[in-house]
Amino acid sequence: MKLLAVLMLLAAPVLAQERRDPRVEAVVQRIDPARMQSTVQHLAGFGTRHTLSGTQGPGRGIVPAREWVAGEFAAVAKGSRLKPFEDRFTAQPDGKRISQAVEIVNVGVVLPGTDAARGKQAIVVTAHYDSMPSDVMDPKSDAPGAIDDASGTAMALELANALRDQSPAISVYLVAVAGEEQGLIGSQHLATRLKGEGLEVIAMVSVDIAGNSEGQDGVRDSTTARLFSEGVPETESEAQKKLRLAVGNENDGPARQWARYAQRAGELYVSGLRLRVLLRRDRIARGSDHMSFAREGFPSLRLSEARENYRGQHQTPRTEGGVRYGDELFRFDANYASRMCKALTAAIASLSTAPAPPQEVTLAGAVSPDAKLRWKLPADAHIADVILYRRPADAATWQSALSLGKVSEVTLPSVTTDDWFFAVATADAAGNQSLAQPPSAVGR
Ligand SMILES: [Zn+2]
Repeated sequence: MKLLAVLMLLAAPVLAQERRDPRVEAVVQRIDPARMQSTVQHLAGFGTRHTLSGTQGPGRGIVPAREWVAGEFAAVAKGSRLKPFEDRFTAQPDGKRISQAVEIVNVGVVLPGTDAARGKQAIVVTAHYDSMPSDVMDPKSDAPGAIDDASGTAMALELANALRDQSPAISVYLVAVAGEEQGLIGSQHLATRLKGEGLEVIAMVSVDIAGNSEGQDGVRDSTTARLFSEGVPETESEAQKKLRLAVGNENDGPARQWARYAQRAGELYVSGLRLRVLLRRDRIARGSDHMSFAREGFPSLRLSEARENYRGQHQTPRTEGGVRYGDELFRFDANYASRMCKALTAAIASLSTAPAPPQEVTLAGAVSPDAKLRWKLPADAHIADVILYRRPADAATWQSALSLGKVSEVTLPSVTTDDWFFAVATADAAGNQSLAQPPSAVGR
């Protein structure tokens, strides 16, 4: 059966307001700023969570901190669909940021997927529960790490609580990792392990530094957040490079599509938060745990606050010249963090239940007046619609999203392929969309 849509696209309409899935709305409403505040307060109370800090007395150090985090995950998982998850290994001295052998434990939960045909697909969320003072090799000094990254760890726990009764098509991993400040070693182990287990991570996010709303310059912004993603995959193959040079898709890699997805879903379900899709993989010359997953070829992004205060980051708490340094609890804005958490929850609740995406998307119509796209629809009974995204070739973001119906081909009269970018997504009857797939081949 050949299903074809012919569209008359006269003016480029702005992205229409989509309808919300009441199920996703209900999940999003479970995010609780008061509980996030309490989680961050508790984590900051361990004094230091430096990866090499071990146990330095009752309730001080990374070992009691991780036991508490594991206990919190276990409490949320009890009696739910969530399964406890642990990734434990011994990191050997590396001549860099690991001075002695140390046990590293990544802890969290997995929400198992229910679609057997997609049994190896997953979404992964990480936050890092380790922290550091001014000197990255100092495991003794206070390092409360309220923003970096108790804020993200609180979000991972909130996500677990919000999703605990859900039955998504694909699995969702929610993991608090250690070793981030020592060179991303916890997340690297996790990414390598999951890849080794044959898992296909279709979307990964590191929530890192996501709760401070007052920048170092005093400017406050609690209504914007940033999504960082690579445009060209770090693991780009020769074939991908050839396609990129042919069609110019350096702003359309899988990680960038995932960032756009998180932006669209986040803004659809959460009022009072604008998500900016920044066209770089992280802040300049800095990094986070999403880079470990990008290195394994997985589409990964970082969610972070709009305005950072560097007096809070990687600073031993102290007052110097009348200025307060240190990553302390007073910097945490729970209402702001909860909006970011709600946005992320919306994206994950929607993507994890959405149908499988279109496959083998082919762009045709070069040196002709009409653009033609065709794709294969996977055998997924939940597909109710196909959404066509497009933007002019001099724009960075999608400018229209059109519902095509359940078709596998579209012709766009008087649309010159050279002047546009396209992608297609599947959607279920409630409007939950797959990740948008740009053309992976150019044909006739
Ligand atoms: Zn961090």
